[in-house]
Amino acid sequence: MKLYNTMSKRKEEFVPLEEGKVKMYVCGPTVYNFIHIGNARPMIVFDTVRRYFEYKGYEVNFVSNFTDVDDKIIKKAIEEGVTAEEISKRYIAECKKDMEGMNIKPATKNPLATEEICGMVDMIQTLIEKGYAYEKNGTVYYRTRKFKEYGKLSHKNLDDLQSGGRSLLVTGEDEKEDSLDFVLWKPKKEGEPAWQSPWGEGRPGWHIECSEMSKKYLGEQIDIHAGGEDLVFPHHENEIAQSEAANGKEFAKYWLHNAFLNIDNRKMSKSLGNFFTVREISEKYDLQILRFFMLSAHYRSPLNFSADLMEAAKSGLDRIVTAAENLRFLKENTTRREMSEIEKDAYAKTQEFVDGFEKAMDDDFNTADAIASVFELVKYINTTANASCSAEYLACLLDRLAVLTDVLGIITDKKKEVLDEEIEALIAERQAARKERNFARADEIRDMLLAKGIILEDTREGVKWKRA
Ligand code: AMP
Ligand code: ZN
Repeated sequence: MKLYNTMSKRKEEFVPLEEGKVKMYVCGPTVYNFIHIGNARPMIVFDTVRRYFEYKGYEVNFVSNFTDVDDKIIKKAIEEGVTAEEISKRYIAECKKDMEGMNIKPATKNPLATEEICGMVDMIQTLIEKGYAYEKNGTVYYRTRKFKEYGKLSHKNLDDLQSGGRSLLVTGEDEKEDSLDFVLWKPKKEGEPAWQSPWGEGRPGWHIECSEMSKKYLGEQIDIHAGGEDLVFPHHENEIAQSEAANGKEFAKYWLHNAFLNIDNRKMSKSLGNFFTVREISEKYDLQILRFFMLSAHYRSPLNFSADLMEAAKSGLDRIVTAAENLRFLKENTTRREMSEIEKDAYAKTQEFVDGFEKAMDDDFNTADAIASVFELVKYINTTANASCSAEYLACLLDRLAVLTDVLGIITDKKKEVLDEEIEALIAERQAARKERNFARADEIRDMLLAKGIILEDTREGVKWKRA
């Protein structure tokens, strides 16, 4: 299995640090608004990467943070006259609903930056002790030039950066020893959230958050660190400088970056204002279609969002779902049970589509080609499955299709989306949360079920549910 490593700028064979296991960290969103469909691209892409590793038999420890302390969150809180915490909690809950709709598997852990401040302070202390950081009037800076390999991920040259950096000195950071130095800890400003530290009250810089959370939940060395390509510099470059200086080890073996989702061939971003939120798209399309659209291109190619491409994704997905529904219908209605010798041969032929799928995914997760193999399988199903086939043959075809679509995170059985037992388990969890007066969790579960078309009704006899 080969993956493109931004560090070496080439495709490399994947060799895990520990046999059969993958430790993976994906930089998550800053939560000050609904996520836009650009933010959804890394979520969908790296969830698919995770699913493929699992398909291959790896146990994946998948950690993805929420950046819940940041200037933009504070600004939004001031605008609304509420706390920063209220803003971040609200948009984390909304983001989780969107992720659910896009069938993103829950991470092993979603750490919140604000809950990990102690560890960040410790890491900054270590950097100071080792001479990689220094404090000036309550601000702690990283001494960039001390880290000899700085620039190795983004392939930037320190002197070029220096000449560009001089004019870019941020006000309030003029006490830096060097314009290349970046902030690890910043002092409190009036009205902002702040935590105690040896350098006075303040809050961490963005880069140290990921270095610490990755270390705490995955260890000092990880297999894969991922995010959008805008994070290569400075975010990931700075994470490497921090983690490798503090831990004395190579941080991540493979660095994966998705290209941008554009709109009208321009980068989609909150600052440019040319974005659609996932929620807006969900009013028009099933989010499965958005997922399928994202996977129709290779993750390292720029992808332009357009109504035409979404319509193409919709009809492509329809073809797959219809084939699956057809198989289910035939299976229920056929009178023959066991596979004939001819059917055994016919089924054996489908292995070539699985091989094609794996070959594409083994080549740096080429989902576009993998989808082409799924379409070939669909075509084969449509030409060979009919009312005279055995139930066993039809079930095998269905299973073959489901295994591949599951890697892509595409659900072909709408009815099976939420099983009755899952609903009952979630209702029980909601009751327990209410008992503990954790109403936020209780509401979150109700909304989660609602997003899946399950309506809860609190009655005197207990909770009743129905499908919308
Ligand atoms: P942010 O909330 O801006 O930190 O972004 C969260 C994640 O979304 C990061 O991995 C970004 O690189 C990624 N991202 C933001 N905008 C886009 C876009 N238009 N296309 C693809 N990825 C994006
Ligand atoms: Zn990060």
